[in-house]
Amino acid sequence: MSLIHRCQGESDVYVFQHVDGFISCCGCSFLPSYVQGVKPDAFETRLQTVPELIEHLKAHREHGDLVPDDLLEAAYYDDEEVW
Ligand SMILES: [Zn+2]
Repeated sequence: MSLIHRCQGESDVYVFQHVDGFISCCGCSFLPSYVQGVKPDAFETRLQTVPELIEHLKAHREHGDLVPDDLLEAAYYDDEEVW
C-alpha cells in the first residue's frame, strides 16, 4: 500500500490512504480544534471506506471548500495508481 496522496491541481482537501488501513482527510477543516482556531490536537478525520470518504468530501464542498470533481467519483479510487 502506498502513501501517494491526492494533491493535484487546486484543492482545499488532502486525502490519502494511511498504512494503518484508514483513509485520512489530513488537516480536515471540520475538526473542532481547527474551527476554534487553536492548535489542533487531532489533525485528521479518519474514514473507513470510499463511499464514506465521498460523503465527507461532499460535505466539505457544501461548506465552501474546493474539492476536485474526480474526488467525488467512486470510480476514481478504483485505480491503484491513485493510492
Ligand atoms: Zn475532512
